[in-house]
Amino acid sequence: MNRPLQWRSFSNHAFHEASFDIRTAAQPTALPYSSLGHAETTMYTVARTSAIFRAQVTRTAATTSHLRARRHRMWSVELEKDHKFKSPSEIIDPAMIDRLLEESKEKAKDRPLVREILAKARERAQLRGVPRGEDEHEYVQGLDLADAAVLLNIDTQDPASKPILDELQATALDIKRQIYGNRIVLFAPLYLANYCVNSCTYCAFRGQNKHIGRSALTKDQLVAEVEALQKLGHRRLLVLTGEHPKYTFDQFLDALHTIKGVETKPCGKIRRLNVEIPALSVSDFRRLKATDCVGTYTLFQETYDPRVYKRYHPSGPKSDYGHRLLTMDRAQTAGIDDVGIGALFGLTDYKSEVMGLLQHAHHLDKTYHAGPHTISIPRLQPADSAPDAIAPPSPVNDDDFRKLVAVLRCAVPYTGMILSTRESADMRRELLNMGISQMSAGSKTDVGSYHKEKMQADENHTQVDGGAKSLEQFQLQDHRSVDEIIGELIGDGFLPSFCTACYRKNRTGEAFMKIAKTGKIQDFCHPNSLLTLQEYLIDYASPETRVAGEQLIDKESKTISENAQRALKRKLDKVKAGERDLFF
Ligand code: SAM
Ligand code: SF4
Repeated sequence: MNRPLQWRSFSNHAFHEASFDIRTAAQPTALPYSSLGHAETTMYTVARTSAIFRAQVTRTAATTSHLRARRHRMWSVELEKDHKFKSPSEIIDPAMIDRLLEESKEKAKDRPLVREILAKARERAQLRGVPRGEDEHEYVQGLDLADAAVLLNIDTQDPASKPILDELQATALDIKRQIYGNRIVLFAPLYLANYCVNSCTYCAFRGQNKHIGRSALTKDQLVAEVEALQKLGHRRLLVLTGEHPKYTFDQFLDALHTIKGVETKPCGKIRRLNVEIPALSVSDFRRLKATDCVGTYTLFQETYDPRVYKRYHPSGPKSDYGHRLLTMDRAQTAGIDDVGIGALFGLTDYKSEVMGLLQHAHHLDKTYHAGPHTISIPRLQPADSAPDAIAPPSPVNDDDFRKLVAVLRCAVPYTGMILSTRESADMRRELLNMGISQMSAGSKTDVGSYHKEKMQADENHTQVDGGAKSLEQFQLQDHRSVDEIIGELIGDGFLPSFCTACYRKNRTGEAFMKIAKTGKIQDFCHPNSLLTLQEYLIDYASPETRVAGEQLIDKESKTISENAQRALKRKLDKVKAGERDLFF
């Protein structure tokens, strides 16, 4: 698609509007970057958004120093007016969360009541009792907030809780199997740039960190990086960047097209690009959508508690809680209907964060008929010069972390749950049995590290101890190769999948939710997963993984109907004969 897009760029004192083809345009000049340090004002109301829009198109107003300062700090400026969204306090209600968690403390000790809630979770994920003629997808709704609060309050440190925690875990795993089968979708993160104007107190990329080496991938480096990922077997990437005028949204859009064009034999191209990039305006979400190459847009709220949000995000565009919370509403408004949410565990009480995730998910589901496509559960890891990563304010222990994953699976059965290599190999293995459906493999969080080329660090930043600078966002705990992870998954009875078919068959947003909520993902995903695994085994697997994988394909092929088996066999034979990228 070569659709020219309207592009408005800001220079120091003037506003320009130009017709711009995002595929062919040269990189725009980096905007000047004024110093940070004071808070952004909130921008979530229509009135304010409109006011900003009017101010931007008015040359006189645009020259005021206040607007200039704000404009230069924002990665994505709103050019549309009159979008009406709920206010953040209608979406996330901290007082209600506190009340429900308080009220459920005693209830959590009532074992028969907890068992009733677990039975309800199974029931609601299994579509029992749907009145005839009713829209059945409406009935797979998981748990309400009050029930989720009870489960969250089970005391993991009390030895007497062990049996009920085992039941919680079994329920979560059954629900996951019911909806997602035994598939685990694999992906890798790809960091484009680590410049950032924000001040997140837990992240090594924050602007205040003068120790870290800063860099952005050049086009050649990006191509090399994608080739390296393809040679590991990856088909699905999560593309990330910090927020800084040295790496603009236009450069990012250009990078997406570069990634999409990279092709190595025998794997071919990357087939799904998910993105985790700074909060965008509706107008820029439309431009993202127009690239026609983005799957899920992901953004973590980090903490859902508006009372402490500012403490962890003292300055920069991200310091605006409301603007960040409404990001998914802006995405949906612009037609990006697969969105991924997440909370960074370790900043505040984990129970409140899970409740915040659920309130956010319910809002999206109710408003757009599509709950979040994915929920991520990053847990704080040590990071260079990031005080709250070195000493997390509310650390979540492993027992509570296992429990919260299981509660989320029971509460939102239809949503994919993502686990990254922030967690250790052992922890990841355990969490797979609590409802995780996607995980990263062979990940790196330092810019350019897949192709191992030494990145040229920015001259403005000082060397650490005169030695090589770290480029890593935070420390990873699982350093195993993709092949090792796949080997372990197969050994544990899981089906590793590189499938990207739903998005390419337009099974996204509400359409995907209808399939997911009625428990029908299996019909498509199971054979598609087997096809992608077959490709991986032929093209990239070690001999041991290949043997184990062939046996798994053989076994799993027999779990589908005879008709489906015949259709699958035809496609598997084609893959063995050299065809690639086949799916149902
Ligand atoms: N810069 C964008 C943003 O913040 O929205 C894009 C995502 S950022 C590159 C990826 C995510 O990493 C953040 O949203 C945050 O939750 C997570 N993160 C940052 N520091 C971390 C740490 N020390 N440990 C674990 N996760 C961390
Ligand atoms: Fe920047 Fe994102 Fe890191 Fe915050 S979490 S400092 S916004 S890269």
